[in-house]
Amino acid sequence: MSRLFISFSGGETSAFMAQWLLANRADRYDEIVCLFANTGQENEATLRFVQQCDDGYGLGVTWVEAVVNDRGQACGHRVVSHGTASRQGEPFESVVEKYGIPNQAYPHCTRELKLNPMISYLRSIGWESGSYDSAIGIRADEIDRIAGNAREKRLIYPLISDIEMTKPRVNAWWQQQPFRLQLKGYEGNCKWCWKKSFRKHLTLMTEHPEWYDFPERMEREHGLSGHNVDGTPRVFFRQGMSTQELREIAAGGGFTPAGDDAQVYEDQLSLDLDASNGCSESCEISFEEVA
Ligand code: SF4
Repeated sequence: MSRLFISFSGGETSAFMAQWLLANRADRYDEIVCLFANTGQENEATLRFVQQCDDGYGLGVTWVEAVVNDRGQACGHRVVSHGTASRQGEPFESVVEKYGIPNQAYPHCTRELKLNPMISYLRSIGWESGSYDSAIGIRADEIDRIAGNAREKRLIYPLISDIEMTKPRVNAWWQQQPFRLQLKGYEGNCKWCWKKSFRKHLTLMTEHPEWYDFPERMEREHGLSGHNVDGTPRVFFRQGMSTQELREIAAGGGFTPAGDDAQVYEDQLSLDLDASNGCSESCEISFEEVA
């Protein structure tokens, strides 16, 4: 019995991969499962796009959300749909309550909000670890994101090994399609993802200040939640920056919005505005941290 699990992040690259696999590799597998994990902080445009891809390309997407388990147990899952998916961050908040605020030092959100709920769903249908291939939507121009234990975990990267796709090629394909993901380049993933660069955050704070209400409330209510060795409240952003501090910098201006060239007076901010933690269009799962 050969099985394929397709991890659909909700971005255009992994949507391309999902439809390509179904069109070109379905004959190699007895069973194919395509999963999308909703964090509750996705853009509405992402949720709409996932549904459009499912309807348009027959992906058969199953939507899952994290369900926090008892101490010592990884997150499980619940099955939802486009209509019932969380929009207020409930899965995210429950993970923050148990594990604390994710940030560069505690990067557990992809693992508990996406990877473990997906694994939990696969187990619930009898797919034990090691019994299936997992297709990950990493492109040829992102080859450094390949997991070190890919072979051992049966991870496959069709956009690198089968069809060499780069960002321009994915874009060119989508330009021929009847619909696209209606987001700017810096708006993908969780709306305020802590992995985004400061420039993206400052731009988003100007355009959608309400998107940051959620991380601000998490810092206020859950700064001490989870594993906290020294009792210092945790914050989300790089360099120990809180949401409130980012808001103050955004309000002061003096930066060029994402997508434009930097201007000279930015050096007065003493921040590297473009450093990020690898958040691009999609939040791809990684199996490296799974035992
Ligand atoms: S998009 Fe960012 S905040 Fe959301 S789960 Fe992924 S890494 Fe975490």
